[in-house]
Amino acid sequence: MVADLKALTGFPPQSVRRLIVKVGSALLVAPEGSVRRAWLESLVGEIAARKAAGQQIVIVSSGAIALGARRLALPKGGRATLEDAQAAAAVGQIALSQVWADLLGAHDIAAAQMLVTLGDLEDRRRYLNASATLDRLIGLGVVPVVNENDSVATEEIRFGDNDRLAARIGQAARADAVVLLSDIDGLYTANPHSNPDATLIPLVERIDTAVLGMADANSASGMGSGGMVSKLQAAQIATGAGAHLAIISGRIDAPLGHWQTSGRGTLFRAASRRGGRKTWLAGRLTVKGKLRVDIGAAEALRRGRSLLPAGITASEGRYARGDVIDILGPDGAVIARGLAQYDSGDAERIIGKRSDEVATLLGGTPRAAIVHRDHMVLL
Ligand code: GLU
Repeated sequence: MVADLKALTGFPPQSVRRLIVKVGSALLVAPEGSVRRAWLESLVGEIAARKAAGQQIVIVSSGAIALGARRLALPKGGRATLEDAQAAAAVGQIALSQVWADLLGAHDIAAAQMLVTLGDLEDRRRYLNASATLDRLIGLGVVPVVNENDSVATEEIRFGDNDRLAARIGQAARADAVVLLSDIDGLYTANPHSNPDATLIPLVERIDTAVLGMADANSASGMGSGGMVSKLQAAQIATGAGAHLAIISGRIDAPLGHWQTSGRGTLFRAASRRGGRKTWLAGRLTVKGKLRVDIGAAEALRRGRSLLPAGITASEGRYARGDVIDILGPDGAVIARGLAQYDSGDAERIIGKRSDEVATLLGGTPRAAIVHRDHMVLL
């Protein structure tokens, strides 16, 4: 299978130059709340060896809420309320950073803590700051350890799971691959816990509706928050940014080496890289509205044209000029994402109208496009 993967991907994703390794709560923290130190030591040993061989590694680590909940004796693993989760994360993050600093320090590697919110990475300036910091840390030989800044992020602006955070960090760090260490060894055709006929899919070339249909929202382990749905969303973000994403089992010691020799897991093959700004745009998670377009407009967009009012059949949601909106084809599938040139109020007045009618309706010389091609990315 390893040979097949090499043939299919052009190179083994395990040996790429810059790799993001995401470790979930259930792997880091035992059910009773203690750190799974022996397993972590095995992983850090692998990371140290890879780093010595020239690979650049960024860790995305969960576990703050689970560790803090144990320390504070909070019910439901600290996830009963948002306030509990935020308090647990604040307490647990100190312990979590200490564990990584100790284990990496044992190999003479300096660890760096970076806590980011969804808001940080949705804002282009702060995204670029995070990107520059990651670059500098890696250049200094440091291993960044990233987590969501759970204590300040409120419900509507949370990543909520570190799968999507890992993919976003993969984008910001311009990583070549993202590996999600999970309690399951990949994507199955159905939920393997409830369906004995489910089979593992080794390679996904394109995340289409058939692939999305295989995810089961109930596949989470109960400790972390991400199930297969969030892993597929992460795969969409990472592959769209030109990075491979792999889901592999972390239920074994030295999981990266096991992956390398067995090839077992699911690999989502990277799409070709876009420019930095379009990559950031494609990975934005906060979409404020939707525009539905007719067949003619959908084809024009695919040929690289801007979206004009005439081809739009409906507008949904409240958005302001500059907000991110999705563009849906006649069948309801999202075909592009871009920045609105109009507030939703004005957009609703001009959809379906020709340019001369738009000028009469809004007065003056309004912008020709509702979404300009320079601010749009095809998905
Ligand atoms: N950021 C959360 C933590 O450190 C975990 C999020 C997740 O479950 O993926 O506990």
